[in-house]
Amino acid sequence: MSLYRDRGVVLRTYKLGEADRIVVLLTPGRGKVRAVAKGVRRTKSRMGGRLEPLSHVELLMYEGRELDIVSQAELVELWRPLHEDLSRLAQGLAMAEAAEQVAQEREPSGALYRMLVGALKALVEQPGPLVVASFYWKLLSLDGAGPLLDACAHCGGEPPGTALVAFDISEGGALCRDCRRGSAVSPAALELIGWILGGRLAKVLQLPASSMTGEVAHLATISLEQHLERRLRALHALEA
Ligand SMILES: [Zn+2]
Repeated sequence: MSLYRDRGVVLRTYKLGEADRIVVLLTPGRGKVRAVAKGVRRTKSRMGGRLEPLSHVELLMYEGRELDIVSQAELVELWRPLHEDLSRLAQGLAMAEAAEQVAQEREPSGALYRMLVGALKALVEQPGPLVVASFYWKLLSLDGAGPLLDACAHCGGEPPGTALVAFDISEGGALCRDCRRGSAVSPAALELIGWILGGRLAKVLQLPASSMTGEVAHLATISLEQHLERRLRALHALEA
C-alpha cells in the first residue's frame, strides 16, 4: 500500500467495530477522504483525541481501495473555543456537513479546504452572525451556483428601472416584481451578499446582528438546501 501525507479537517466520525473509528476528512490534495483510524476508541489511544470532528490535522495515511488508513495524525489546530461553546460547535459542524456534501472523493479540493479552515478560524477568532452564512454563499459560488445579484435572473431587468424584490437560487438569484418567486429580499440584503462574494468578507464578518444579517443568513440556508437537493436529485438521475 502506498503512503501519503496531507492535511485535513475532520468532517465527521463514526464507530467501526469495537475500537476503531471511520473518519471523513477534507484534504486539499485528495478532496474528501474516508479513512479508518485503528484502535482510537481505546482509552490509551493518543491519536483518538486528535481525530474529533472539526480537528485540523497533519496526516500520514496509507491509501486503500475503499478506505484509507490513518497511520499518524498530528494536530495543527483543535479549535478549542469551538468545543467550549455549544452554539459555535453547532455552527462549525453545520459548515463541515455542508462541505462534506459538496466535496468530491479523490479530487483535489484546495479551494474548499482553505474556505473551511478560514471559516473555522473566523468562528474561533471573531464569531459574528454571518460566519456560517458567508461560508454557505461562498460554497454555492464554488459549486457553480453563485447567484446573480444586480439584475433579474429571469428577465435581465436591472435597477433602477427594475426593482429586485425576490430571490430564488434555483432561478439563478435575484428576481424582479414581474418574475418574483421564492423569498422576498431587501436591496440591503442583496448588497450584503454581494460583499460576501465580492471580496469584502472581512467587513461583513464584523457586522453586528441585525434584521439584515438575519435575512442574509436565512436566505443562505434555504439556498444551500435547495441547491444540495437539486444536486442530489441530478446525481440520482445520473445513477438510475
Ligand atoms: Zn424579471
